Amino acid sequence: LTVLGLESSCDDTAAAVVRQTVGTGAEVLSSIVYGQTDLHSAFGGVVPEIAARAHAEKLDTCVVQALEAANLTLSGIDAIAVTAGPGLIGGVMSGVMCAKGLSAATGLPLIGVNHLAGHALTPRLTDGIAFPYLILLVSGGHCQYLIAHGPEEFTRLGGTIDDAPGEAFDKTARLLGLPQPGGPSVEAEARSGDPERFRFPRPLLDRPGCDLSFSGLKTALMRMRDQIVAEKGGLTRQDRADLCAGFQQAIVDTLAEKTRRAIDQYLELAPSDPVIAVAGGVAANTAIRSVLETVCCAKGARFIAPPLNLCTDNAAMIAYAGIELFRAGARDGLDLTARPRWPLDQSSPAMLGSGK
Ligand code: ATP
Ligand code: FE
Repeated sequence: LTVLGLESSCDDTAAAVVRQTVGTGAEVLSSIVYGQTDLHSAFGGVVPEIAARAHAEKLDTCVVQALEAANLTLSGIDAIAVTAGPGLIGGVMSGVMCAKGLSAATGLPLIGVNHLAGHALTPRLTDGIAFPYLILLVSGGHCQYLIAHGPEEFTRLGGTIDDAPGEAFDKTARLLGLPQPGGPSVEAEARSGDPERFRFPRPLLDRPGCDLSFSGLKTALMRMRDQIVAEKGGLTRQDRADLCAGFQQAIVDTLAEKTRRAIDQYLELAPSDPVIAVAGGVAANTAIRSVLETVCCAKGARFIAPPLNLCTDNAAMIAYAGIELFRAGARDGLDLTARPRWPLDQSSPAMLGSGK
């Protein structure tokens, strides 16, 4: 079973070909990603109109390149999977239109994929793990704990009530005059900083459950920065490093505690081979990765972090989710619509209310 996947929900235009191999394994035959960072950098954020137009212009090239790199033509493809949401509606529509065109022209089955399901199923693509597993989705736009029971069955245990951690890293970098994306630059600064010098809040730790909040960190950082500037006239290199270290430590500590709670809920299902996986760009952070690994080990679970190019937005995860959905009998028609909002647990009413 060979599936062509398309992704265009945010600021990456991507196409990929994934083939299901014997058993449950799958092989990424090609994965092409065109980032749009340059197009948006002058605006300090993704501009939906510009993103949608760039996706529409780039998708055809992406598809051609993905097929070429996989050494295939459309006749070697069995189905077309496309991100149908959630995301920026114009971008999602560009992808859905492209996929519909390909499906109408070739007669190939069309499968609409939830972008978050793509992220959440990635550990099955990379490591072939079995359901149910716990996944922490932690990126620029998302932060949530999910138990994956099946390709369309997820229980959401909790998540951020405001900013996503990647967004918090990006804002912190902006406030300190560090380059974007903020994650890598804040992490690099934090290495030479003292995490104890500035005490950042640990929001929601006093409340039960797995919900998180990160927007307060930015406010705290702004206050600390302004105070230093008022006292000394500016920030030294060390001030900046200490602020980054304190900020990052707050995120690390919060994620550690909430992950412990999420694991406890997951272990109540008594999985035979407990696995905790992570997905999303923030998983690139060494401090976050290592604390998650420690927490998982302490709870007797395996920790899985897919390679970074499959953690950030890509179409291989969409093609792979397409394979799982196709095998489960899912098919969409040419009336497939783009959904700007699409909570992951919405497609499985049976699960609603069980973990929320
Ligand atoms: P989404 O997948 O939610 O639609 P996205 O495209 O913004 O959103 P990703 O591509 O998964 O998210 O990840 C990008 C985010 O990851 C950025 O916010 C970036 O700052 C953050 N990030 C990347 N590297 C690191 C790092 N080393 N430490 C912390 N954050 C990081
Ligand atoms: Fe994403």
